[in-house]
Amino acid sequence: MKIAVLKEQADGERRVAATPETVRKFIALGATLAVETGAGETASIADAGYADAGASIGDRAATLSGADIVLGVQGPDPATLAGVSPDAWIVASLNPFAERARVEAYAAAGYEALAMEFMPRITRAQSMDILSSQSNLSGYKAVLDAAAEYGRAFPMMMTAAGTISAAKAFVMGVGVAGLQAIATARRLGAQVSATDVRAATREQIQSLGAKPIFVENVAGIEGEGTGGYAGEMSPEYQAAQAELVSGHIAKQDIVITTALIPGRPAPRLISAAQVASMKPGSVIVDLAVEQGGNVEGSVAGEVVVVNGVTIVGHRNVPSRLAADASALFSRNLFNFLSAFWDKDAGRPVLDAEIGDAIRLTQGGRIVNARLSS
Ligand code: NAD
Repeated sequence: MKIAVLKEQADGERRVAATPETVRKFIALGATLAVETGAGETASIADAGYADAGASIGDRAATLSGADIVLGVQGPDPATLAGVSPDAWIVASLNPFAERARVEAYAAAGYEALAMEFMPRITRAQSMDILSSQSNLSGYKAVLDAAAEYGRAFPMMMTAAGTISAAKAFVMGVGVAGLQAIATARRLGAQVSATDVRAATREQIQSLGAKPIFVENVAGIEGEGTGGYAGEMSPEYQAAQAELVSGHIAKQDIVITTALIPGRPAPRLISAAQVASMKPGSVIVDLAVEQGGNVEGSVAGEVVVVNGVTIVGHRNVPSRLAADASALFSRNLFNFLSAFWDKDAGRPVLDAEIGDAIRLTQGGRIVNARLSS
């Protein structure tokens, strides 16, 4: 069983899909590991670290030759997979809705493509969940990015020269990233409020010492929502939410938006008029910018200033913490493959619950129900 770890090719991708720690663990299971030269460089892992852990280091062709499983952070370009066994597994974050042509190419080549972001949200899969591990880091980094752009301090400071008041931070979307953003902004000393459409988050916001801001006159999503995910809200809810946000946002210094809907464009939570109502010097970080953005005027890959308000739209935020993001991503991959490792077969054998959820292609066809419509 040969596992290949590629150097990521996507622009701005600094993460890597294995670390020396996970290489050692895979070898202990009986696998052979091949790592492409320089794969870990941007995540501060030298080739020697992988070699010491027992991996062979080589160019892309040598790494891929005879590989049974190819690990990536993002899906590798199918055109560059020459040498991989036709029935090999490609295991990565495959962005299946946006990268349909790529998924079709994996199918045509015979590969079994496994999309880690389709991991079901069930208790036993928590340690395999790349969305959680990466969102956690994004929520943290979003607050630091906001602090770096903000021309004031976060905490209240009482000095001999007078008092500086605490920054007011508002977190919109309280999933994994939002909860970490609340915790981080609180640690920096901001006064934090937060909102979500899922009722279960109200208590979570309070437990972190922040103030919940909720639409009260129109029902949102009860409890956790299906699988912890939100859906598109009714026009009535959206109107009530817009009114609520308008009243609140003008008083905020920092806004972090994280709201996503799986398989759909991100919901628009802040209009240009609401941005214009904010004080000059305020900062908005739109973590949903690559999915279409929660904020009108945010631009993917750019930091823009509109009426004195800075809107931060960094792409691939986890990659901005490449070392930790790689460590967690790699463990997610290892936790997944090792949980299904069949000693007799010398390779992982998936069960239906997880296999059917994440498998995109098999036997030359697209087989995932979420891609069939
Ligand atoms: P997400 O990234 O899909 O969305 C981020 C947040 O935005 C969610 O809380 C969502 O409700 C919110 N949102 C969507 N539309 C909105 C709108 N119009 N206005 C305001 N907020 C909006 O969510 P996530 O971070 O991946 O996690 C969501 C939930 O799933 C959490 O409760 C998390 O604990 C749970 N979860 C469970 C597991 C597991 O059990 N294995 C794994 C991951 C997440």
